[in-house]
Amino acid sequence: MNWTRVFYIILVIGLVSFFFSQLLFGGSAADVKPLTEVASLAAEGKVAEIVVQENDLDITLKGGASIVSRKEPEIGIAETLKNLGVPEAQLSNINIKVASPSQWGGWISILGTLLPLVLIGLFFFFILRQAQGAGNQAMSFGKSKARMFTGDKPTVTFDDVAGADEAKEELNEVVEFLREPEKFISLGARIPKGVLMVGPPGCGKTLMAKAVSGEAGVPFFSISGSEFVEMFVGVGASRVRDLFEQAKRNSPCIIFVDEIDAVGRQRGAGLGGSNDEREQTLNQILVEMDGFDTDTNVIVIAATNRPDILDPALLRPGRFDRRVVLDRPDWQGREKILGVHTKGKPLSSSVDLNAIAKMTVGFVGADLENLVNEAAILAARRNSKQIDMLDFQSAMEKIIMGPERKSRVINAQEKEIIAYHEAGHALVAKMLPDADPVHKVSIVARGQAGGVTMYLPEDDKSLMSRDYFKTKITVVMGGRAAEEIMFPTVTTGASDDLQRATKLARAMVTRYGMSEKIGLLTYGKKEELVFLGKEIGEHRSYSEEIARTIDLEVRKLVLDAYENAKQILSEHRDKLVEVADLLMNQETIDAPTFNAVFS
Ligand code: ADP
Ligand code: MG
Ligand code: ZN
Repeated sequence: MNWTRVFYIILVIGLVSFFFSQLLFGGSAADVKPLTEVASLAAEGKVAEIVVQENDLDITLKGGASIVSRKEPEIGIAETLKNLGVPEAQLSNINIKVASPSQWGGWISILGTLLPLVLIGLFFFFILRQAQGAGNQAMSFGKSKARMFTGDKPTVTFDDVAGADEAKEELNEVVEFLREPEKFISLGARIPKGVLMVGPPGCGKTLMAKAVSGEAGVPFFSISGSEFVEMFVGVGASRVRDLFEQAKRNSPCIIFVDEIDAVGRQRGAGLGGSNDEREQTLNQILVEMDGFDTDTNVIVIAATNRPDILDPALLRPGRFDRRVVLDRPDWQGREKILGVHTKGKPLSSSVDLNAIAKMTVGFVGADLENLVNEAAILAARRNSKQIDMLDFQSAMEKIIMGPERKSRVINAQEKEIIAYHEAGHALVAKMLPDADPVHKVSIVARGQAGGVTMYLPEDDKSLMSRDYFKTKITVVMGGRAAEEIMFPTVTTGASDDLQRATKLARAMVTRYGMSEKIGLLTYGKKEELVFLGKEIGEHRSYSEEIARTIDLEVRKLVLDAYENAKQILSEHRDKLVEVADLLMNQETIDAPTFNAVFS
């Protein structure tokens, strides 16, 4: 039962019935007869009795009917009637009585005036209270919703964040600064103002930010980008101002802006008209960060899983110029995370965390925490005192089968396919002399892709030759080629690659004049939509015939590259198997390990 609602109903009923009663009973006042009429009735000898109560007159006529009237104040009714010309003889026949004023009457009239005031007052009181109760919205909507976590009771430390050693190392500098800002300032060191934490959901970005404040023992103000963009125009900006003011008063401290992509998208473009609010909020964040003095001692940590769509202004020096990547953990990382979350839980001796870590390719920290929790629940349901390996296995099945899972979890067969796919890319790159050298190969999922192969000087060349392009396309097709060689059927896993290869080939043909048939003309106007952060289409300004030639040329480039890749991989099938096996065992292999296969 909602008591506020009950109050509202009572109040409304009270007000309505009050006004109705006023209408009904107050209505009798209209029947008050003027004194002249009373006087003429009296002169005709028709009045039997007059009862005077204060100024009200209750007049009873000889026939028994009664009327009401009102006498003039301060003057007796008899005198008034005499003045109005009622003869003395008639007047003495009238029985004039004076009633003692009724006690209730006074109270009722006081209540009559006060009751509506009281009711209206109550009404507003509850409206205000309601408004304030609903999350500061109507009354104090400019206040930031930042929650303050006290810094003197650090609950999370780096020990709670397993793995992610590189990230910890980078953030350690921030921790040191927050602990002893004077030490750095006295040396004139420029302190980072903003750190951008990048990584897929559930990888521990929020956890890491809390750990930084816990390690440094400073307050932690956190707000989510989506909370900024909430209700009224201008609120976002004033919330930002408020948040930074609050933080400055509590410095040294950390401001944590979660999901900054919600406000930090590229400005100046967008579908729909509601971007002003976001832009203002973003501008205010930038203004506040620029306004930091060297001794402000506030560090802003922001988190996002879409760094690609952020406004470049956010990434300029003096803003979020430090970038800390929290990626999906590999099996060593997963084992450590499992260690953190099983600490203090009774595990039976059958539980092998290493084995669980190897089975859970694709799980992020949040998934692993959930896994441990599910296993504990299953054990409790069995009325067991310990968590068994079997509990973990059933929990994992439950999670993988579960409908609401968003992040990728891969089974053994998928793992094998991804391993061969990535090994294919890496091997083709290794075998083509002018290809970029392989830096790292991994079957741990990144974004949409099943795995990733990283090359060293990626996109660092300013002038690229036709052969380099061809090599690049061949490497890109290497993944699909390996799948085709090793497995009876191909998968959707290569769709990204195919798109990339086609795009590269199309650019060669239509933009760089690298096709003999098409020649040196460029076709189509590149169109970029800033809002989406990427090209979405091209203007066609050429004939069907040229379009056909372009398509054929693109097709030829891609297919030639594909055949080339397939040939390379077939020739070195043994190496392909070797690299894929390495990947299946270790998930991620670095350049030395990879190159060792060929020595
Ligand atoms: P994000 O902010 O990146 O989406 P969170 O920091 O909210 O992820 O992580 C969710 C939960 O997952 C954390 O509360 C923690 O229990 C668990 N978790 C994630 N990463 C780790 C890690 N590296 N070590 C231990 N626990 C982790
Ligand atoms: Mg988070
Ligand atoms: Zn690929």
